[in-house]
Amino acid sequence: MKISIKDITSLTDSSKKFTGICDIKDFSYLGSEFSINHVEPFEVVASMIGNGKLHITFATECTITGACDRCLAPVSFKVMISSDETVQVSDGEVVPDEELGPYSFIEGEDINIDELILNEILVNFPAKILCQDDCKGICPVCGKNRNTESCDCDDTVLDPRMAQFLDVFNSFKEVK
Ligand SMILES: [Zn+2]
Ligand SMILES: [Zn+2]
Repeated sequence: MKISIKDITSLTDSSKKFTGICDIKDFSYLGSEFSINHVEPFEVVASMIGNGKLHITFATECTITGACDRCLAPVSFKVMISSDETVQVSDGEVVPDEELGPYSFIEGEDINIDELILNEILVNFPAKILCQDDCKGICPVCGKNRNTESCDCDDTVLDPRMAQFLDVFNSFKEVK
């Protein structure tokens, strides 16, 4: 959703509440695709806090679906959103800030709430997405999902980089 900056700067009372709407359905991050399945109902509170400063804040929780990092099974997870921004406004337009750079969430005379939501999702994104903590992943040899099927593949074949690391490790032990 977008909120017109003029709608806020023309306020006579101190703040205005808007029913929050998230218009993003999916996004990609680090080469993977994710869908936003659910966004908890939320309110955007916008206010003029003096000296031409516009303050905008909201909080919600998004339920996102993506693929497990190890076995690629679909996984749902929640990300907390808490946005709090202050921008300087003059004549109904946001004044660019040299330190904070151009604001990605300002589009002409509008504040793009979707952009703020996406920023927050990426900042609070889980480091690992796993279907279960001990997901066994996919067999690198035969491609079977090891959570549901077992295989007799020889997985002692080391990644060449790992083998190199072990060589260094062993020579280190010998010196000692
Ligand atoms: Zn998994
Ligand atoms: Zn296998």
